[in-house]
Amino acid sequence: RVAYVNGRYVPHAEACVHVEDRGYQFADGVYEVCEVLDGRLVDERRHMDRLERSLKELRIREPMSRAALGHVLRETVRRNRVRDGMVYLQITRGVARRDHPFPKGDVAPAVVVTARSIDRRKGGKVAEQGIAVITVPDNRWERVDIKTVSLLPNVLARQAAEEAGAAEAWFVDRDGCVTEGSSTNAWIVDIDGRLITRPADRGILRGITRTVVVELARREGLELVERPFTVEEAKRAREAFVTSATKLVMPVVRIDDAVIGNGKPGSIAGRLRDLFHGAAEIAS
Ligand code: PLP
Repeated sequence: RVAYVNGRYVPHAEACVHVEDRGYQFADGVYEVCEVLDGRLVDERRHMDRLERSLKELRIREPMSRAALGHVLRETVRRNRVRDGMVYLQITRGVARRDHPFPKGDVAPAVVVTARSIDRRKGGKVAEQGIAVITVPDNRWERVDIKTVSLLPNVLARQAAEEAGAAEAWFVDRDGCVTEGSSTNAWIVDIDGRLITRPADRGILRGITRTVVVELARREGLELVERPFTVEEAKRAREAFVTSATKLVMPVVRIDDAVIGNGKPGSIAGRLRDLFHGAAEIAS
């Protein structure tokens, strides 16, 4: 395996950043995860748009042009011979003597790209069963709309899920409403077949998969309401599912101790999963 580190492709086992990288010391950086399908990037434009926004919000300089970054992503995918999988991109504020304020002078942002294969059949098998999720208090900061590498609450939530035999944790706000998963957006389908997902203006990351599924649902003529929903509502829902670039559309069949629907993945989630790549933007 090969990783891209600050301008060079190096063996993955030897890919290193400096101990004073601000990503390492302060989680002062952003990232993107892009799906790779048939060796091609899925929804690259949207991922680049979101990346530029994240960098702007944290006032980290763009390390290179969008075209150059796109080339690095593709080259990393190619050198790792990834057909189906994902590419990971991280940009931090760079290396400087540890001090909280931004470094003075012209410190170059640090760029790391890795890629790996994901077994699509395995994902498909999990989707046929559906996953369990647990709920945990949302104790994150207010700027979860920025895709930063500062993910400790997400890590702890996901570990709690693992220890409870679940695959994902849903964060719950003070009003008892689900915000999102530790690395996914959360959806339910109510008794009348309406899709419900939290608006992306507050309290969640605007998932690229979420955006594509919103468009897909509209195209399919499904009724969609963007509003917060409570844990209680979710437990009574006909269906539930999560979305992300790696899990795609993944049915949820249990929330804490509540079985969702008849305990099998719902038909709407299944349909959205089947149609997802037809709605995504895949470069030729
Ligand atoms: N919400 C959080 C907190 C995430 O970390 C992610 C992805 O990692 C998502 C939602 C889903 O976003 P996307 O569909 O762009 O992968």
